[in-house]
Order: sequence, then C-alpha cells, then structure tokens
Amino acid sequence: MTESKARNFIEAIIEDDLKNGRVSEIVTRFPPEPNGYLHIGHAKSICLNFGTAIKYGGRCNLRYDDTNPVKEDEEYIRSIERDVRWLGFEPAAVLYGSDYFEYMFEKAMLLIEKGLAYVCDLSAEQIREYRGTLTEPGKNSPYRDRSVEENRRLFLQMREGKYKDGEKVLRAKIDMASPNLNMRDPVLYRILHATHHRTGDKWCIYPMYDFAHPLEDAYEGITHSICTLEFEDHRPLYDWVIENCECVPAPRQYEFARLNMTRTIMSKRYLKKLVDEGVVSGWDDPRMPTISGLRRRGYTPEAIRDFCERIGVAKSNSEVDVGLLEHCVREHLGEVAPRRMVVLDPLKVVIENYEGDGEYVLSENLPKNEEAGRREVRFSREIYIERADFMEEPPPKFFRLAPGREVRLKDAYIIKCESVIKDENGNITELRCTYDPGSKTGGPTAGRKVKGTLHWVDAASAIPCEVRLYDYLLNEDSEGDFSERLNPDSLKVMPNALAERALADAAVGDKFQFLRQGYFCKDPDSTEARPVFNLIVSLKDSYAKSQGA
Ligand code: ATP
Ligand code: MG
Repeated sequence: MTESKARNFIEAIIEDDLKNGRVSEIVTRFPPEPNGYLHIGHAKSICLNFGTAIKYGGRCNLRYDDTNPVKEDEEYIRSIERDVRWLGFEPAAVLYGSDYFEYMFEKAMLLIEKGLAYVCDLSAEQIREYRGTLTEPGKNSPYRDRSVEENRRLFLQMREGKYKDGEKVLRAKIDMASPNLNMRDPVLYRILHATHHRTGDKWCIYPMYDFAHPLEDAYEGITHSICTLEFEDHRPLYDWVIENCECVPAPRQYEFARLNMTRTIMSKRYLKKLVDEGVVSGWDDPRMPTISGLRRRGYTPEAIRDFCERIGVAKSNSEVDVGLLEHCVREHLGEVAPRRMVVLDPLKVVIENYEGDGEYVLSENLPKNEEAGRREVRFSREIYIERADFMEEPPPKFFRLAPGREVRLKDAYIIKCESVIKDENGNITELRCTYDPGSKTGGPTAGRKVKGTLHWVDAASAIPCEVRLYDYLLNEDSEGDFSERLNPDSLKVMPNALAERALADAAVGDKFQFLRQGYFCKDPDSTEARPVFNLIVSLKDSYAKSQGA
C-alpha cells in the first residue's frame, strides 16, 4: 500500500488503521436483509464494501442478515447473490446471520451471568412508556433487578417455548437515564413462534438487529463495519455489545450517507408495494430502480460502478440527480453499443424514380471505432421513415422532410418529397418522393448539403418489433405519498416499430444505439417472431448540459 491515496473518509481511516497496526487485513461485509430485491442504493453499499476490500487486498463477505424470520424469502436470497455477482464482485464467503444463532444465544447467556441482561415481562407498549423521551429520562422496569439465577432460568424457558409471543423479552441492563434512547435497556431478544427459512422451528426466540449485527460482524472477523447514517446513534450500543460480550478483536462501525436520488423510490418496502399492487410487472420491471430492473432495462455493471464511484462517499445525506446515472450509462454505451436504424412510428415512402430491386449501403457499427466495421443495410424503392420526421406545414426551424423539401437518408441518398397521399379521413398514409441517384457516398453529388439527415428502414426486409419507451415512475417532486406521485405515463408502447434486418440476430440483453433516438436493449419478453426492445436512455444528456459540459 505504498502509493495509495484515500478517496474518502473511510479509506483515510483504513489507511490509518493499517499504518498503526490496529488491523493487518481489511475485512468488510455487505449485509442485506433478504426481504426484497436489491436497489441502486444497495449498489452504492456493495461498491463501497467490495471496492474497499479489493483496494486494500482484503476480503468482503456477502452476509444475509436473516435474523427476522417473518419477512424473508428464498427468492430474495437468490436474486441478491445474482445481483452482487452481476455487478462484478465475488464474495469471499456467502454467509447467513441465522447460522450464528447458537453463538448469539451464548453471548446473551454471558451477559446474564455478568448481570448485564435481564428478562422483562413488560409489554411492548409498557416498554415504550417506560423508555421516556429525548427530554425526560426513562423509568426502570420492575423486573430489572431479577437475580442472575432467575434470569438464566427464564431465558432458558423462553428458548424452550414456555411463553407466548410478546410475553417476555431479554433486555440489556444499561442506563434508563442515558441521553441516547438506544441505550435505555434495549431489547436483545424477543419471542416469535415463527418458522425461519433456514432454521425452521428450532428457535422461537430471535435476536434484535442491534444485538445480532455486532455479533455477526465479530463472528466473521469484520474489521470495518460500514453502514448508513441512521445507525450513527446505534454505535454506542454496537460498541457496548462488542465490549461486554468480550468479542476480540473488536469490529468497528462507520457510517456513510445513504444514496437518495431524484425521481426514485429507494425503499424495499415501497418497491414491494409497487410489485404487490401490480403497478409494475415485477421486481425486474425496467422502470424499477432495482438492480434486476436496471439490468433488464439495459444498464451495464460498468455504468453502475462508474456512477457509484462518481457520487463518492460522504458523511451527510443529499440527493443525487438521476440524470447522473443516465449520463454514466450513456457514456458507456456510447463506446460499446452498435448503431442500428429503427423506425418507431413508421411512415411509408415510395421513391418513384428508383428502379431495380434494391441495393446495399454501408453503415458504421461504431463511429470512432474502425475495428467495429460496417454493416450492409438494404435500400430499395419503398422505405419507412419516422412519422415525426415529416410535416406538411413545417414551422420555421423544422429541417426534416416537408413537401418540396430535401433530406438525406443516413448513409444513402438525398430524397425530395413530391406529394402526400392521404386516406379518406385526411391521415397521411404515404409520401411520394424522388431521389438524387448521384448523392450516395462516392457519387458525384455526394457532397451536396441538405439540412436534415433521417434514419430509415427498407420496407421489404425490415422486421416488425415492439419498442417500449419508459419515463420515470414518479412525477417531479410533488407532495404526498409515493402512490400519489405515480406517473401514469411511465410506459409507452410502440407496437408497430420496424427494425433493420441486422437486428434479427440480436440476443436478449444485447444493447444498441437506435440512431437519433437512444440506447435500447432486447427484452426477455421477445419472441422469435416479435422482438421487444426497451429504451435504456435517450440520447439527450440534460445532465451533462446542466453541468456545463
Ligand atoms: P431499505 O430501506 O431499502 O429496505 P435497508 O437499509 O433496510 O434498505 P438492508 O437490506 O438492510 O436494506 O441493506 C443492506 C445494506 O445496504 C446496509 O448496509 C444498508 O446500509 C445499505 N443500503 C441500503 N439502502 C441504501 C442506500 N439507499 N444507500 C446506500 N446504502 C444503502
Ligand atoms: Mg431493512
């Protein structure tokens, strides 16, 4: 670690710890509760925990914090592991907090032996009443002075299932007058007759988060336990548990600001509600800020890691512009996503003076990258252009096609609109055009300048497809609950899109730039006959603009 440079306050702490010998190897963990799918906020924590371990040659565990039996699910566990690996990180070990229940029980017994924990018969409501407030001290529980013998006997009976849910709890004996409410004899264990997804019915007492988490860290030899700011006030309790349970070496907790992002819900509870109420098609709906939603939408791990790197790690909460995330994926895909032509809302064009069966023109797969080569794109007498690229009565700055005007078809010819065909209702059904045969690359009039260049597809060889255009799930920050902020137009389906032939070879998950529109990804809903493409992000980078780029 001779030439490393700390990028954030956590790295600064680590470099200090390594230098003065507090630790010799950095061990971190990413500890999700398996009660939902991971979201982009978790990606920040994953990049931080795994990234830090990698940077300092240490290791990072994936640990399921599965000490709460009621909300957890195997489906979530599988999705979490997949998402971590997809982001590009390999856990040193995949572990379960529930595997340490016996160890936690022993530590609770140790606290009882030391006179530092007691069984309390107050109800949850009474415990709340006795706790006091920020301005008033709490009151001691009448059960606080039970003998060690009695506490030992009662706690064993709790474990054996002698009592009903809520009848008794085990509490730490700390200080009911502490200015920190978390230190006012917090509950360590509660009774819950529930089946756990791994331990089944073996246990009917379960440890509380504030007791379980430090012990899980200690058990695994975690050196730096990184969590979000809400836990800052819990740190004294974390340290109390570590010290009094005699855990050596002691892990230490550090807090960083959680990621909040504009136009984005960042809570598993709300995301679950969207899934359960059918607002979205599932946890991997491309509009969801979940890792699986982003993956399906077409986001790349590189873009997400780049985003996490750029937002950095701070000690105070703030809100990141969702435009930055979009900027990151645009930048990555700009370099790697092959260009293709797709017409979302087709308008037929017949080129009246074009004779013969058609031909192929050459189009670059990736501008700025010669190695990506060119592909042949079929051109013939009948093509389609975007309906929005034609106007019968164009306003002043409209440089696309209009009666009597010329445009260039990308990598092909210049065409001129001669007449407009309409149906009985006055809707435009077709344009009649002529072309300039010399205007193709290499031709005598190739250099002729016209104002607009349009994308197009050949009518005979195009493939019909469905394109799904997405907008944010949430409206611009209006007041109220998330359910009142839902954007009714977050999905717009283009059912009649036409794609150039080259897209017939695309596999699910492949990403492209559709010229002049944006980046798109082939969706798993695709069938042989009908490919489906998701809009990942449009080409317009309002974020870069706002940053003066
Ligand atoms: P949620 O409120 O969305 O359910 P959580 O914090 O309860 O999130 P956990 O499964 O407990 O979710 O989180 C696992 C880890 O990810 C924790 O260390 C937590 O601090 C971190 N994390 C969760 N949300 C964010 C976020 N928005 N930004 C950064 N880290 C986060
Ligand atoms: Mg949680």
